[in-house]
Amino acid sequence: YATVSIYGVPFSKMTMQETVDWMTSAIAERRPTHVITANPIILMNAIENERHMRIMEQADIIVADGTGIVWAADYIGDPLRERVTGFDLLYELMKQGNEKGWKVYMLGAAPEVVEAAASRLQQLYPGIQIVGCRDGFFTEKEDEAVINEIIQAQPDLLFVARGAETQEPWIARYREQLNVPIMMGVGGSFDVISG
Ligand code: UDP
Repeated sequence: YATVSIYGVPFSKMTMQETVDWMTSAIAERRPTHVITANPIILMNAIENERHMRIMEQADIIVADGTGIVWAADYIGDPLRERVTGFDLLYELMKQGNEKGWKVYMLGAAPEVVEAAASRLQQLYPGIQIVGCRDGFFTEKEDEAVINEIIQAQPDLLFVARGAETQEPWIARYREQLNVPIMMGVGGSFDVISG
């Protein structure tokens, strides 16, 4: 797929529909992908911090969450066709998952929040299977247990809602072990979904 480089970070130029189709292929092929939905703050962190830049570089797809990114692409004369926010992408993936019977693991936020968000998604999209959920307040010592639980559940999609500073390095560090087709950081989305 085509990208536009903004401060060295390659943003996908795919529309929402193309992005969902691309992810559907990743799931069909069981190809592990780390999806980063980046806004200008995340981009600035990467520019200022080498470690964060490495994480952006190893991601499989970076989508433009935030009008600032869309504006920057326009400014350098290589416009994006559409803004693809993480929140909208999550819902579009759920719509597709409803048809395809995808398995979803939800990791992050407070226990009651992730539970409520899982019930809500299950109610809206009865065709998806929530194969597990867990809160996002655990230490590095617990990583192994959390990863094993996810591997056992064999999800097609893993949503990680622990804040950008934590979720992306966590996915990047464990992506090979996790081996989930779509691994995506979703920030505060569970709080919004849970209502
Ligand atoms: N969160 C978490 N574990 C943590 C810190 C935060 O699960 O150690 C959750 C928090 O409950 C919220 C989400 O991560 O649901 C996003 O947090 P926040 O909005 O603070 O992060 P940001 O997206 O602003 O980086």
